[in-house]
Amino acid sequence: MGDVKVTETIDLDALTAWMREFGRLISDNRDLLTDLDAAIGDADHGVNMERAMTTVVHALDTDRAATVAGLLKQVALEIVSAAGGASGPLYGTYFLRMASAVGEVEVLDPQGFSIAMQAGVEGLVARGKAAAGDKTMFDALAPASEALGKALASGESLRDALRAASAAANEGRDATTPLVGRKGRASYLGERGIGHQDPGATSAALLVAAAAATLPGS
Ligand code: ADP
Ligand code: MG
Repeated sequence: MGDVKVTETIDLDALTAWMREFGRLISDNRDLLTDLDAAIGDADHGVNMERAMTTVVHALDTDRAATVAGLLKQVALEIVSAAGGASGPLYGTYFLRMASAVGEVEVLDPQGFSIAMQAGVEGLVARGKAAAGDKTMFDALAPASEALGKALASGESLRDALRAASAAANEGRDATTPLVGRKGRASYLGERGIGHQDPGATSAALLVAAAAATLPGS
């Protein structure tokens, strides 16, 4: 509060740093994601996401698009091509809808990023039909984008707003543990899924944590 906000823009380097940090967090947590998916799915979420993010980072390093929309679309297409499972098309749609929301710009302001995140959540819902409490990645991403929007609207800096978003994502992730899965493989388990944290909500919380760590700059 009271900060003079003169340099709050998110450029292509910041978005690249975001994806690089997401990839790093995914690799660091690959075994956790795999173990969580072993409990309520088929034990491939860690491997799926690591393969996807290795491909994304390689593409950004070698042939990065020149606009924000182009970069986000590139991320989407690389994820879809590399990640198997339900999560590939779902994250792909998330980033594709972000791309569609931003227009042909080279930098985003915080509000533009917030609108894009919200559009991503809407894409996720359009694709996977998840609602709050279904024990999916929605349960981390939806509260995160809501918290981001609220914090920015009340005048908080991008850094503080993304911190609030990350805290909301972590809370949403933790809240999946006692739930019965209603989408994807976890839904086959019914009540036996109770007591297990959702792997997709866990990777989604890492995505928001990576945003908080990189997008405000240093
Ligand atoms: P698969 O379930 O095909 O093996 P992954 O293991 O990579 O794919 O991803 C599983 C995660 O995908 C779940 O933990 C959940 O968060 C998410 N998920 C599955 N179905 C949906 C859906 N319909 N909407 C949103 N998220 C979903
Ligand atoms: Mg799986």
